[in-house]
Amino acid sequence: QLIRGPGTPQASIASISAASESEIRELARLPLEELKALARAAADRVHGNKVLLRGLIEVTNHCAMDCLYCGIRRSNTRAVRYRLSHEELAATIAAGRRAGFMTFVLQGGEDPALAGDGLLRLAETARTAAGPEAAITLSFGIRSRRQYEELKAAGADRYLMRFETADPELHRYLRNGLSLEQRLKALEDVRAAGLQLGSGFMTGLPGETGETLINNVLLAQRLGMEMGGVGPFIPHPETPLRDAAGGDLERAVRATALLRLALPACHIPATTAAGTIHPEGREQMLEAGANVLMPNITPVVHKKHYLLYPGKICIDESGFQCVGCLSVRVMGRGLRLSWERGDALPVVT
Ligand code: SAM
Ligand code: SF4
Repeated sequence: QLIRGPGTPQASIASISAASESEIRELARLPLEELKALARAAADRVHGNKVLLRGLIEVTNHCAMDCLYCGIRRSNTRAVRYRLSHEELAATIAAGRRAGFMTFVLQGGEDPALAGDGLLRLAETARTAAGPEAAITLSFGIRSRRQYEELKAAGADRYLMRFETADPELHRYLRNGLSLEQRLKALEDVRAAGLQLGSGFMTGLPGETGETLINNVLLAQRLGMEMGGVGPFIPHPETPLRDAAGGDLERAVRATALLRLALPACHIPATTAAGTIHPEGREQMLEAGANVLMPNITPVVHKKHYLLYPGKICIDESGFQCVGCLSVRVMGRGLRLSWERGDALPVVT
């Protein structure tokens, strides 16, 4: 009797408890449609039929890091590099506010120009442009604890940083020597700085097993993350993983559903990577309990250069046009778009 249709009124968060480790292992063995139905029912009970909108701005594709999977890694000399000016960023956010966005997610590589005070200045610009009411989320990789604290003081509300995989050896290999421990320490620092915490992982990375998927979900649960992204790995031709198979949609959807049942209150996006590998990828993730969509409102001239993987969708139109398309897509599932800020909900574990 857990299964309820979309449109169920928002219930109290405490009314649904998170799946335990043994339940997660059992759930992982269910047929996909059954698992999706359980996860969607959990999402309905906690989040109702709302799909929160966040405006994604890809601020810079310069990166000092060399993650093996990523199309904007330092060693990809073919990437056309760009960095938004403060004026471009402010204008993009102002246009976003006029369109109704109440959350802006600023993302980018670990750009040397943003080291030191660079990111802080950017956060200040974003806060001024967004006004006091809108939420600012940052996603620029590993910084020091003190820098996270300064970002919070400058007006940032949230920080996203996926742990990518819970397998320490795979993590070290794929992140070119960077340990999982270092990533987890940085996530701890984000939390200690008082920022709402987002993390997540990719599915279908080379070397990943069924156990890795379970461990990813369990690690996400241990972190008690308030926002969580899952995306299929898509091989980029200018990276060392060009010949890898890449993640399929079923695995990504399964991971989304398990994440929802492990963390009922978490804000989980239906990701662009899922929409890239399958025309209905994002809808499938919504059916599996995702409750967030992030239209890409980066200025169209730059969008095509933030190419983490090939074939990325919606790069020729403005994110503002995407909202109409997304609205039709979610309505078909009995869901509705919401312009609320969508702050972290208390996590039940
Ligand atoms: N540099 C920051 C970081 O690494 O946390 C933020 C930007 S990074 C490009 C954002 C996310 O893109 C990563 O966390 C990773 O999961 C995802 N990503 C990178 N390359 C990808 C690929 N080839 N396929 C799918 N997702 C990818
Ligand atoms: Fe840089 Fe992030 Fe890409 Fe790694 S995943 S190379 S840190 S942008």
